Amino acid sequence: MNDFAPHAAPSASRVDEPVGSAGPAAAAHPPSAPCPCGHAARYAECCGRWHAGPLQFQATDAEALMRSRYSAYVLRLEPYLLRTWHPRTRPASITFEPGLRWLGLEVRRHAVLDAHHAQVEFVARSKLGGRASRLHETSRFERTPEGWLYVDGDLHSQHRSG
Ligand SMILES: [Zn+2]
Repeated sequence: MNDFAPHAAPSASRVDEPVGSAGPAAAAHPPSAPCPCGHAARYAECCGRWHAGPLQFQATDAEALMRSRYSAYVLRLEPYLLRTWHPRTRPASITFEPGLRWLGLEVRRHAVLDAHHAQVEFVARSKLGGRASRLHETSRFERTPEGWLYVDGDLHSQHRSG
């Protein structure tokens, strides 16, 4: 599956349901701006598709979901993060560290284990008060009737410098 084609046209547009309200935070990121996840596609054609609109919560594989969750951290879309977190491990709320800036995402590996399980290894860089952080994690994802959900992850390293 190639979900990241920059010009993935909404081909089979079977419009059955009215679109739910787009969150104010999602609307705040210009659809034509580069996607926060660092993919070449514009936001509207990348993670923005999963954040709001007819394809909301329908990220088609674990990597797409992982990217959309990173972008949701950048845009502070708490409802999206909670909804895409497996109920087994989902926290009650998300704490966004004030002043923290996400600088970039690098997806290193996307391993599909079976039809319902996948892992994504990534490095996410951030900065807080002049200190750079690097989060290197392998995340586990599970496909449920609700779509792909984040379960948990193992940290490879969490390096702070500065
Ligand atoms: Zn994206």
